Amino acid sequence: MKKPETFEVRLVSATMIAPMVRQLVFERVDGQPIGHEPGQWVNLALPLPEGERRRAYSIASAPDGSSRFEIAVTRVPCGTGSIYLHDLPEGSVLSAIGPHGLFTRASEDPSPSLFVGTGTGVTPLRAMMQAALTKGSGAPLWLLFGARFEEDILYRAEMEAFVRAHPHVRYEITLSRPGEGWKGKSGYVQAHVPALLRELEAAGAPVAPHVYVCGLERMVKAVRELCRRELGVDRKHVHTERYD
Ligand SMILES: Cc1cc2nc3c(=O)[nH]c(=O)nc-3n(C[C@H](O)[C@H](O)[C@H](O)COP(=O)(O)OP(=O)(O)OC[C@H]3O[C@@H](n4cnc5c(N)ncnc54)[C@H](O)[C@@H]3O)c2cc1C
Repeated sequence: MKKPETFEVRLVSATMIAPMVRQLVFERVDGQPIGHEPGQWVNLALPLPEGERRRAYSIASAPDGSSRFEIAVTRVPCGTGSIYLHDLPEGSVLSAIGPHGLFTRASEDPSPSLFVGTGTGVTPLRAMMQAALTKGSGAPLWLLFGARFEEDILYRAEMEAFVRAHPHVRYEITLSRPGEGWKGKSGYVQAHVPALLRELEAAGAPVAPHVYVCGLERMVKAVRELCRRELGVDRKHVHTERYD
């Protein structure tokens, strides 16, 4: 795993991918590759009115040897860092420190994986899926994504394309506040983990699945406890990253 370093990044492009989520594409100013493992994050040093503050963001894209990487930032009400990044003009340069983190999955890992993410918590899971699929992995890769409303669903077209191209990819969305026309799953992700995990165990047998969970603490804790205590998943097979 690469040692973290400090480097400058330039904002190349930015797009709103949901009403409260801005996707930002950065590139290292020195042209060096980021060299992260899928699932890792970077610290961005933000020059806020109260002084420089660091905020962590998961790298949403797989390592591809280039100097570019993506993040996706939820605009937190009254959150100085996330609002700064939502307003950051293209071309701006920031200081970054990283890559950091042990919430990783090797792209050639043959284990069946259940990815559970809510909101921008899906970003490191997306990087893991992109990396595994680019390497031609045949391991079952199942993503359970949770959001409030249909408009909050992130990377839907990309995930649906993965499903069409790869029979071992499964994509499930659950909405906690579905509209009347929604025909998919509803409720919190926790409600759907047991059934999906049992199916994945059967699909991936005899190799036991790993579970990767990312998002806000309440959800992460609930899924971790569920997996370890009620579903009997080996604690070494439950990997978590929390944002708060
Ligand atoms: C390892 C790691 C990776 C992270 N990756 C991401 C990422 O990819 N995308 C991202 O948007 N955030 C991510 N975060 C959270 C991010 O670092 C900031 O905490 C977040 O942007 C809020 O900062 P702020 O200055 O706007 O608000 P602050 O004033 O610092 O925080 C206000 C409150 O916002 C809440 N909060 C933090 N993150 C979120 C969120 N995503 N959605 C809703 N509420 C939140 C917390 O409860 C916090 O107490 C990550 C955090 C960690 C530790």
